[in-house]
Amino acid sequence: MKIAFIGLGNMGGGMAANLVKAGHEVNAFDLSADARSSAESGGCDAYDDAKRACEGVDAVVTMLPNGKIVRDVYEGDVFGHAPEGAVLLDCSTIDVATAKDVIAKAEAAGYDMVDAPVSGGIAAANGGTLTFMVGGTDKAFGRAEEVLQAMGKAVIHAGDAGAGQTAKICNNMLLAITMIGTTEAMTMAEKLGLDPQKFYEISSQSSGYCWPLNAYTPMPGVGVESPADNDYKGGFATALMLKDLRLAMEAAGSVDAKTALGRHATEIYEVFAEENGGLDFSAVIKTL
Ligand code: NAD
Repeated sequence: MKIAFIGLGNMGGGMAANLVKAGHEVNAFDLSADARSSAESGGCDAYDDAKRACEGVDAVVTMLPNGKIVRDVYEGDVFGHAPEGAVLLDCSTIDVATAKDVIAKAEAAGYDMVDAPVSGGIAAANGGTLTFMVGGTDKAFGRAEEVLQAMGKAVIHAGDAGAGQTAKICNNMLLAITMIGTTEAMTMAEKLGLDPQKFYEISSQSSGYCWPLNAYTPMPGVGVESPADNDYKGGFATALMLKDLRLAMEAAGSVDAKTALGRHATEIYEVFAEENGGLDFSAVIKTL
């Protein structure tokens, strides 16, 4: 397949290279010349114009910072430049409303399009082990699946347009809440004189079982190896968690969903991110 890939940053760079490894021909575009030249080293054909990168392709994949940029790129560079009938895949994490609107405009212009945000960070993007949660029609999903499989370990059809973004922000809101809960319980256990490793052994096999405790233990030297054991470097940046929480709060407001803990988690990460946006989100334990 011939694929245009727009947005070759921390995530997109590795994803584009994995499409090449899977045998696709990739036209790569990013505003950054450095990102374009790394994509070239990964086997892509680099373009300095997004519209030209979209000419003659079967599919367009985007991995961009936010909803406004996604809208600008599709409306300015993709629609009318990618051949009618091409399948369009936006893998960025953006707000649900923009995702739905851009997909509606794509369909009106004769394209099949999905929102396909990812779970998994830079290592999963490089290793081709992302999980994609996909929103769109059955037909669009069927066409997008082959492209996504080359970049991930799981591709799940979540529902109609926007359902991928909905799944992503609900998942990450839950993750933020369980992370904060885990850090509170571990710190309180320690303050009460219980060895945190004993607490981990007990709770990870009891009803306190949860992903942050069992698979990403946020205290150095306790439980499984995680960013906590590397001074909270690497992993999933606090700034990105805050971005997702803000998207979750915006979406909650749009449907009057009650998210008291989601709101509180957002406030905690807002304060923490002021000075610690680059640290892994489990470093929120430092606030305790
Ligand atoms: P990044 O900032 O490293 O990359 C974004 C790239 O987009 C940059 O190279 C930038 O130059 C390029 N860009 C910006 N505007 C552009 C335009 N108009 N045309 C072409 N290129 C443009 O960000 P990232 O970490 O790769 O994240 C990308 C998306 O993936 C975001 O939506 C993010 O929320 C999501 N995400 C990131 C992670 C992670 O761990 N980094 C995990 C899951 C999801």
